[in-house]
Amino acid sequence: PVRVRMAPSPTGSPHVGLVRTALFNWAFARHHGGTFVFRIEDTDKERSTDESLGSIIDLMRWLGLDWDEGPGVDGPFAPYQQSERGDLYADALARLRESRFTYDCYCTTEEATARRKAAGSKVQGYDGFCRELSADQVAAFEAEGRQPVVRFRMPDGTITWHDLVRGEVSFETEFVPDYALCRANGDPLYTLVNPVDDALMEITHVLRGEDLLSSTPRQIALYEALKEIGIAKATPAFGHLPYVMGEGNKKLSKRDPEAHALAYRDQGYLPEGLLNYLALLGWAIAADRDVFDLEEMVEAFDISDVVPNPARFDLKKCDAINAAHMRRLSTDEITHRALPFLKRDGVVSDPVTDADAQLLELAMPLVAERINKLTEASAMLGFLFVDEAAFEVDPEDAAKQLGETGRPVVQAAYDALAGLATWSTDAIQTALQEALVDGLGLKPRNAFGPVRVAVTGKRVSPPLFESLELLGRDRSLGRLQRALG
Ligand code: GLU
Repeated sequence: PVRVRMAPSPTGSPHVGLVRTALFNWAFARHHGGTFVFRIEDTDKERSTDESLGSIIDLMRWLGLDWDEGPGVDGPFAPYQQSERGDLYADALARLRESRFTYDCYCTTEEATARRKAAGSKVQGYDGFCRELSADQVAAFEAEGRQPVVRFRMPDGTITWHDLVRGEVSFETEFVPDYALCRANGDPLYTLVNPVDDALMEITHVLRGEDLLSSTPRQIALYEALKEIGIAKATPAFGHLPYVMGEGNKKLSKRDPEAHALAYRDQGYLPEGLLNYLALLGWAIAADRDVFDLEEMVEAFDISDVVPNPARFDLKKCDAINAAHMRRLSTDEITHRALPFLKRDGVVSDPVTDADAQLLELAMPLVAERINKLTEASAMLGFLFVDEAAFEVDPEDAAKQLGETGRPVVQAAYDALAGLATWSTDAIQTALQEALVDGLGLKPRNAFGPVRVAVTGKRVSPPLFESLELLGRDRSLGRLQRALG
């Protein structure tokens, strides 16, 4: 049975690369009817924070990527948080230390680096000095009060695996130095806990970012030891997902604002839009098709279709994909999802009054087809909900539309609308058409622009005649009058 995992380190704000990794693992698990494990790699206690962990969980919940084992769910291999698994690592470390796969190493990093330098070696990292220490040498180091680290003895030769994304990958182990599994005080390191957890949790496929490619030969070698001492059953398959590149063809980094995954939620993207876009970073459902939902992705997902070339992050494309998903939602659904933003932005009251709810139901059909993100509803609809005393016209739009040429237009609109018998979209449209287009001989854009700015406060608004109807006679006329000064 397929068992995959995401294993984020809760340091800082979650990155879109993490979402892409989570999504591909999730889709792989769901496609194969397997298990998706969510493990928290908080071994680095100094850098891990509860706040970061909380935001990763919030993010996953918002995205709707559900996990079968992990925080809040538990499962047969609990706990799923490394800071609670210390005994398991201590046990693994003790057993490895008794085996021929490791040795105690007393060197400081500085000593090892100095020796490498003196020997003119191009290889970085540990030089194997303590591999074959005699009992006397050990005693001498101990007498100096040195504490050893446990170091893994890399085997000679070549380590090759069939990468699920990149095909055959090989590393010469002469370039992969022996590495520490713990600190001198015994605290386990990532090098130990990550493969030990994958082994204990019976992970079958490790799908992760290309930045971890160079740790794979070390881990594959460690698996041989873990199998021999009875901790691992098998070595998992590995697949390394392509880099995500940002501006200037540099790896997308935490410094890039578009890297922060939760910002998409706060900016009103749909989770289905973001996931669809991130799926395209390395994968495609078909040559001629970009827009799909998660169900379709699960059905079609094949890890061997992922391409190893770096993927370019393109915010415009992300926006377009999000807009396509907005078009797929019903007006009611958009209302439901936009409501938290309308509350946040103070457009409607919280809790929503009956009057606001009614107005929203009438107004949302005017904008549902026009907004590409949920947050745009606030900007489009604010003019309808605002108190007259607080209503403001955008100063730039006012300067453009309500100046010398605009004023007579607004005056004519006021005169035409003031005398209307019925306040309906059709009647408003006919009256304004007659007064401004036929009467003043204006092109529709010049005729309606000033009216739009006067009553909605902006040059971009929902359709004008419907907006006037919803706004009502008194408020509409009042705003026209205000624009006349
Ligand atoms: N905790 C590692 C990271 O966040 C993940 C390692 C892995 O996926 O194997 O980079």
